[in-house]
Amino acid sequence: MNSIILTTLNAKYTHSAIGLRYLYANLRELKSVTAIQEYIITDHINEVAEKILFSKPALVGVGVYIWNVCESYTLINVIKKVAPETIIVLGGPEVSHFPFRVDFSLADFIIQGEGENSFYSLCKTLFDKKPPDKKIIKSEYPDLKKIELPYDFYTDEDVLNRVIYVEASRGCPFTCEFCLSSIDKIVREFDVDLILSGLSKLWDRGVRKFKFIDRTFNLDTKISNRILDFFLQKEPAYFIHFEVIPEHFPDSLKERIKQFPPASIQLEIGIQTLNPKTAKNIKRKLNFEKTKQNLQFLDKETNAHLHVDLIIGLPGDRIEDFAGNLNVLTALSNAEIQLGILKKLSGTAIGRHDDEYGMVYSDLPPYEILQNNVIPFALMQEMKRFARFWDLVYNSGNFNKTVRLLWEGEDVFKGFYSFSQWVYSQTETTWKISLSRLAELLFKYLTEVNNKDKAVVANVIVEDLLITQGRKIPAFLKKNVSVVQEVKKENIRKINSRQIKHSEK
Ligand code: SF4
Repeated sequence: MNSIILTTLNAKYTHSAIGLRYLYANLRELKSVTAIQEYIITDHINEVAEKILFSKPALVGVGVYIWNVCESYTLINVIKKVAPETIIVLGGPEVSHFPFRVDFSLADFIIQGEGENSFYSLCKTLFDKKPPDKKIIKSEYPDLKKIELPYDFYTDEDVLNRVIYVEASRGCPFTCEFCLSSIDKIVREFDVDLILSGLSKLWDRGVRKFKFIDRTFNLDTKISNRILDFFLQKEPAYFIHFEVIPEHFPDSLKERIKQFPPASIQLEIGIQTLNPKTAKNIKRKLNFEKTKQNLQFLDKETNAHLHVDLIIGLPGDRIEDFAGNLNVLTALSNAEIQLGILKKLSGTAIGRHDDEYGMVYSDLPPYEILQNNVIPFALMQEMKRFARFWDLVYNSGNFNKTVRLLWEGEDVFKGFYSFSQWVYSQTETTWKISLSRLAELLFKYLTEVNNKDKAVVANVIVEDLLITQGRKIPAFLKKNVSVVQEVKKENIRKINSRQIKHSEK
């Protein structure tokens, strides 16, 4: 019997691939011969291939994303070597735009764009022995009000252990040149009643952690308000995540966000740059005054956990510009600030700046910038380490009070930059640094390099560490600590522990 395996390699076990579930949901009568198999990028590829091929599928559909391009390449290679008769169909953002950076010539078919309808049609024609004459199939945008939703196909294991992804719309009306979503300019919405019914079923099955993947959740306030109302009627604890644009928070939306309990709602707010010249250059809309007002409102008047994004390496953006952005954002709010490195994604328009700004990118995923005409390679490397240490120390919420000692009396960027350089000189790595080692490094830097009082620093670090129940005071701190800290009795709840820690400043 013809059979289909839909597969992908997720970045982490806790992630779930909504794309595979959409394809499955829309396979009509072919659902009965199809199975979803998800793996993670750290799995041994030969074993993944062995499991996929166990049922001798006629066709394997592989979801290719920026985090799994190389592993997908290897997987296809192994499958084609040991079972060359297997039809391989690729889909996903990494194969939806030219040029392909990885050689996918072993694939039999590649679907570009949203594949809910085209994957079904392709499977039908292949099983009917009438294969298309083209290897690359360009999908039409499906009508989102007509396609089947994927939510019933999250398994009980997903509900128990994984983040559940949901969406109310696709596309973005804005034109930021580095972003894949800028290609899909027309925002298309799902039927909100069907979305709410899908959410309701998931809630009844026990899902309490929902991540909306809409690029601009707050664009259509009528829909966002209905979705927020759904959650406001529910009993906490739960955790919902939305990506929002910073300029658009009408009063009705503000009123609703104010009602959410602490750490139950997370807003990811794309700032990217606050430099008007850079923003204009990359065609990113920037209304600084509105952004500032809304960030301050969210920070001061709501319990929302804020996660803002800044990008390092945009054309013409100097380190001084980035430093200014970071200083302004840390002054405006207590948001977690994700520092991303500019990537050159196929299909985007960012490449038009290559010559003028000396933009040099890696050819390998994730295609990050290596240098440009204002940030040479060595400095870019330092900034990548800065971003990583920032995540470990500032964003993790593990050192909320201690981290602020790094820039007492000077600006945030300078203070953290010196620390970042010093930490790297001690560790020569940015990976596998345990929490106690990080605490030790902070203590050493603050007391030996910044000459701060040992007891003061030790007390602050211990206060930070004991936010989480069960942590022990490391030996090197015990002998310096002067205040006996009370260990927090309340357990950090698993579904939003990072957000709770980060909010305790
Ligand atoms: S960065 Fe955000 S606002 Fe800009 S195009 Fe992408 S999704 Fe839209």
